[in-house]
Amino acid sequence: MEHKNTWETYSTKQMKEVDAFAREYMDFLDNGKTERECIDRIVNTIEQSGYQELETLVTAGRKLKTGDRVYSVWMNKSIVMFQIGKKKMTDGINILGAHIDSPRLDVKQNPLYEDGGFAYLDTHYYGGVKKYQWVTLPLAIHGVVVKKDGTTVEINVGESEDDPVFFVSDLLIHLAQEQMEKKANKVIEGEALDIIIGNKPLVIDKKDKAGKGKDESSKEEKGAAKDAVKKGILEILEKTYGIEEEDFISAELEVVPAGNAREAGFDRSMILAYGQDDRVCAFSSLKAILEIGQTDRTACCILVDKEEIGSVGATGMQSKFFENAIAEVMNLTGEYSELNVRRCLARSCMLSSDVSSAYDPAFASSFDKKNVAYLGCGMVFNKFTGSRGKSGSNDANAEYLGHIRAIFEKEKINFQTAELGKVDLGGGGTIAYILALYGMNVIDSGVAVLNMHAPWEATSKADVYETKRGYVAFLKNADL
Ligand code: MN
Ligand code: MN
Repeated sequence: MEHKNTWETYSTKQMKEVDAFAREYMDFLDNGKTERECIDRIVNTIEQSGYQELETLVTAGRKLKTGDRVYSVWMNKSIVMFQIGKKKMTDGINILGAHIDSPRLDVKQNPLYEDGGFAYLDTHYYGGVKKYQWVTLPLAIHGVVVKKDGTTVEINVGESEDDPVFFVSDLLIHLAQEQMEKKANKVIEGEALDIIIGNKPLVIDKKDKAGKGKDESSKEEKGAAKDAVKKGILEILEKTYGIEEEDFISAELEVVPAGNAREAGFDRSMILAYGQDDRVCAFSSLKAILEIGQTDRTACCILVDKEEIGSVGATGMQSKFFENAIAEVMNLTGEYSELNVRRCLARSCMLSSDVSSAYDPAFASSFDKKNVAYLGCGMVFNKFTGSRGKSGSNDANAEYLGHIRAIFEKEKINFQTAELGKVDLGGGGTIAYILALYGMNVIDSGVAVLNMHAPWEATSKADVYETKRGYVAFLKNADL
């Protein structure tokens, strides 16, 4: 199969649509740097399109009929949306799935300490990262602190131009002879990824308040010098957020690259941004389900948490949350039975969407040129993922691929097929195999990304737009 550059297939009008879509996508990225922020924004968006909360309908004893739109959020980190079709759900539904968690540094539960005059927050990285990429970058802190009284304080600092940012230090090149000899995975070790959050001792403020002169430093102030920088930070946290040191115990704070998504290239053909794995598929799936209009089969979109660490936990794809939501929805359409839920799941079709590694000429030897995704060449299908003998892969059925191909050709969607990299080089997992456990047809698909899992990842605007078109074609036409 020949790779066709998608840009070449677009009219001037379409190119404008691509740019408009990219602007919307970049805005989504800028306002959704954590799972929780994504969920907030998605719920606001879909409620304006008539989506109603499933739990509210259940409590009110309401029924669902063709055309109704309903959603369910789990623990503020995962969401599933349904648009009821003309056909029975028992006969199967069409599902778009993607994940909204991204690699980052998570703040530990007892994180705050002072060393060498700096206040630090200790972190534990989340997902697969090249640790050396995270030093000397402006970083922002996003998340929540839940206090003992049950109130939640939202934190988002480092994004606005007036905000301070944070950073991880690195050794100057002049002293780095030993460091430079180390292997890349040892150059910066996990425990070294602590962020610097302050350097100003509290006593300076106290002196000002007391109106004392410069050389009047008393013994008392010298005594206060122990951990004075940390104390200064605690005072700021107390003033700004009303939180104390112990509150870190029940906090979820994510440290991410600071700053907005940017257009890349003189031709502005690409997007350089944090968190595109997998918010690029999440955003395009969301946009697709919002624009399809009435479909024959029920359309579903599920956006989950925890993919980067194995889809575990109550909000990961392995959670029963999705299956329970299907059962609740079928109960409201009047179809519920244990057997009908199983039939619905087994007869469904799914595009399990995640990013695919784009061919990088700078690392050509890591890819099989015939079976790799090219940036700008359309939506990607991975019949299988996994590595070293397809280990851990979903491996979609040929009949299903044939069905999808026919739909995409009919709807003139530009697509390519790919593997992650060379056969024995490694690989990665997605959520596809989990849904496949129900016996449904699932295939890995999505958008090609250059420097995937780096603090700043690159995508093609054309691919993002084309993938959304592909999702629309799938939701409208898939029925196998
Ligand atoms: Mn991913
Ligand atoms: Mn990933």
